[in-house]
Amino acid sequence: MTDTGVNLKFSDAQVERVFQVHYDEAFRPYFRFGVGVGTILFAFFGVLDRLLFPEVAERLWWWRYLFCMPPLVVTLGLLFVLRSHRWVQPVLSLVASLVGLGTLGMIHEIPTTSYNAYYAGLMLVIFYAHAFVRLRFLWATLASLVIFAGYEVLVFLLRPETPVREVISGHFFLVSTILAGMGASYSLELDARKQFLLQRNLDGERLQLEAANRRLVELNRQLEALARVDDLTGIANRRAFMEELEREWRAQIRQGRRARPLSLLMIDIDHFKDYNDLHGHPAGDRCLRRVAGIIAGFARRPRDLSARIGGEEFVLLLPEIEEEQAVRLAEQLRAAVMERAIAHGASGVAETVTVSIGAATLVPAADLEPGALLRQADRALYLAKREGRNRVMKAG
Ligand code: GH3
Ligand code: MG
Ligand code: MG
Repeated sequence: MTDTGVNLKFSDAQVERVFQVHYDEAFRPYFRFGVGVGTILFAFFGVLDRLLFPEVAERLWWWRYLFCMPPLVVTLGLLFVLRSHRWVQPVLSLVASLVGLGTLGMIHEIPTTSYNAYYAGLMLVIFYAHAFVRLRFLWATLASLVIFAGYEVLVFLLRPETPVREVISGHFFLVSTILAGMGASYSLELDARKQFLLQRNLDGERLQLEAANRRLVELNRQLEALARVDDLTGIANRRAFMEELEREWRAQIRQGRRARPLSLLMIDIDHFKDYNDLHGHPAGDRCLRRVAGIIAGFARRPRDLSARIGGEEFVLLLPEIEEEQAVRLAEQLRAAVMERAIAHGASGVAETVTVSIGAATLVPAADLEPGALLRQADRALYLAKREGRNRVMKAG
């Protein structure tokens, strides 16, 4: 971004538009206050008309109350009623111009012996436009140029008899006031622009940070999920299983005497080394995926967990399942693998790929570790292998 805020226009048109709306929104209280106080002061100056120039007071009031006041009052009302912003700067600029011209009108009414009596009023209007109401530089300058042009018309066309001394001093003060006012509104707007940019950058950085943070959280979640999944089969891995076993174990211990049993099936493919040797490693992988799919199908309740914990070793964790039911499920699972009829060809147990299953059931207790359940299931699996494979054995 090339905008540094040192110019009174952002090079990016979109940013400029946003700034202008932001400005008119942020400074709305200033507009109201400026126009409000200005209106009261201006009305109050009517006393001066009556005191100083009783002979023309009526004509002065005409300018003051009929020419200048209506735009002031209407604008003040609009500043409270209208929510939109586009009209604000042009209208404020127009009102400042009108009040300036009205003041010139009054100067014109005042007898020529008192040229300078209301001259200060002009300067007040210019100062108001540039610094007090917070008109932006361009619009304030436009108003003061209109007033300046009005002044030229007054002294050169309407009152050519104005003494040269008055004309010269009048120009000096008027031009100086306009220049000083321009300086003021320039630096005020510059500050507003810098402030706007700063805030915008801060907001942008905050948004970027928040987005980065969200991405990080999401990546972390994905990473966490990946760290619990077995690459080959897509079911849970050993780590996820161990965590889940711990969690279920502790959950039951918390139940105290109402603790329910936790069952575990340990499943190992029979003669898988031979399968690999015969069919090749890629076919072995495919076989592992199929068996994993069958086992996963037996994890039917939300808290059941199937996992691959080693090369061709799987587990099925069954919370709150009694031993009897666990053995029944194991038997169904064994049969399901056989029924899948994946040709083995080098098994010696069956024509198809088969599994041996060790089943164990424990009621978690404070003086037991979840490792005990693992060891029992492992022992049962060993027995199933020793007894000839393709069978279910239970612990104990
Ligand atoms: P048992 O019936 O006693 O379980 O005999 P087994 O051959 O199945 O057991 P063993 O532990 O001797 O061999 C396991 C084999 O599993 C060895 C290895 O070739 C195979 N294996 C382990 N991990 C993978 C894998 O990720 N992909 C494939 N294709 N094979 C694997
Ligand atoms: Mg095996
Ligand atoms: Mg094995």
